[in-house]
Amino acid sequence: MVSRPAEFCPRCGDSVEPIVADGRERERCPTCEIVIWHNPVPCAGVAVVDASAAEPAVLCVERGIPPGVGEWTLPGGHMEIGEDPEVAAARELEEETGVSVDPAALEILDATSLPPRGGKHVVTIHYLVERAHAEGVPEAGTDASDARFWTPSEFDASDEQFRPIHERRFRAAAARFA
Ligand SMILES: [Zn+2]
Repeated sequence: MVSRPAEFCPRCGDSVEPIVADGRERERCPTCEIVIWHNPVPCAGVAVVDASAAEPAVLCVERGIPPGVGEWTLPGGHMEIGEDPEVAAARELEEETGVSVDPAALEILDATSLPPRGGKHVVTIHYLVERAHAEGVPEAGTDASDARFWTPSEFDASDEQFRPIHERRFRAAAARFA
């Protein structure tokens, strides 16, 4: 299995050839006689919502590395081998913001296939948790240049930009507690 379209067989290095299998165009290694499956990659993230004020605020991070440097996202990233998605979401949260949360406190917000980038397809499982269940003061960690709570009104009044899929989640997370 590969996460981007294969040109060469990952087992023997031979050039792959196109075939149709299960009604889809796929790549096959003529030497190993195997299909090189191209599948989506799972990611997990979490929206921490501070619902203590009149307008709920959501913990966001500003991307410090490509793609999308300077754009705001919700904390999240790739799942590790053998990791449950809510554990991955809590780990990414702590790595990117310094805020920790018990994975058992996370609720599903949504699960979505994202538009591909460079032939890589990502499926994200996004969670929601109230700040009361989280510990720590937000501080930008790995891959992030800033980490802070934003309310939708504050964000709209700023010159900042969200990555589109994250903006929908940001607003959906805030709306759950409005
Ligand atoms: Zn091969």
